[in-house]
Amino acid sequence: MHALILGGTAEARELARLMMGQGWWVTSSLAGRVANPHLPVGEVRIGGFGGPAGLARWIFDNDIEVIIDATHPFAEKISTSAAEAALATGVPLISLHRKPWEPVPGDRWLPVASMDEAASIAARDYHHIFLTIGRQQLAPFARDPHNLYVIRCVEKPTAPLPARHRLILSRGPFDVAGEKELMVGNQIDCLVTKNSGGQLTAAKLEAARSLGIPVVMVERPPLPGGSRAVVAHTPVEVLRLLREM
Ligand code: NAP
Repeated sequence: MHALILGGTAEARELARLMMGQGWWVTSSLAGRVANPHLPVGEVRIGGFGGPAGLARWIFDNDIEVIIDATHPFAEKISTSAAEAALATGVPLISLHRKPWEPVPGDRWLPVASMDEAASIAARDYHHIFLTIGRQQLAPFARDPHNLYVIRCVEKPTAPLPARHRLILSRGPFDVAGEKELMVGNQIDCLVTKNSGGQLTAAKLEAARSLGIPVVMVERPPLPGGSRAVVAHTPVEVLRLLREM
């Protein structure tokens, strides 16, 4: 039983471990974006497939019996590829996407649909902005010549950055005390983040809540249209779905 896990997340690594323990032969696929990735157990392949057709060919050539899209909820292109390749090959697809964060009393969230919208609000209304959005979508913020941006990401961004910025290279996980210290120390008056969900990076939300700092929350893109994927929120749920298949 050969499964393909499209990975790049902690949940994908956990799922590879669980499935190997249940006798699956697992190949995990990574995009190859970070120089020093955490590797899952089992076989690993790195790099793009060449779009949906390339992915479908790979699935066919490697006798894949199930595809699990365990990529980050904001990785839209690979999820679209997975949906199209599943339809083209007839191989079942399970989407493992952790639950989004939900606001709780005390939160001051400003939900937005795009990074452009987040950048407009940040530039217009705030002065010391904490950006935890990764390094690939910083361009809209680079247009702001006035305000200070504290940018935290795993690897050094290659795109242009705002004129006034401080860069923090760190992978996390982060704790609430550390996040509060960072926010107070940099006089942060706004946090901009994506609704990734999960525990590993949730401490910043608790820190912002306790300091009364507003959070510009970029909401998730929708799942690819026309997908026949079955959705799971945890690796254990995926195991249950596999047993029912
Ligand atoms: P993306 O925009 O959806 O993907 C761009 C292209 O990269 C895809 O078309 C595909 O190339 C290749 N690719 C992406 N994920 C791949 C995978 N797991 N295996 C093989 N090829 C992959 O994705 P992204 O937002 O750049 O994210 C890249 C990876 O980082 C994802 O695997 C994701 O799980 C992880 N990640 C993303 C974020 C985020 O915020 N976006 C955060 C944490 C981790 P081809 O078309 O050539 O197949």
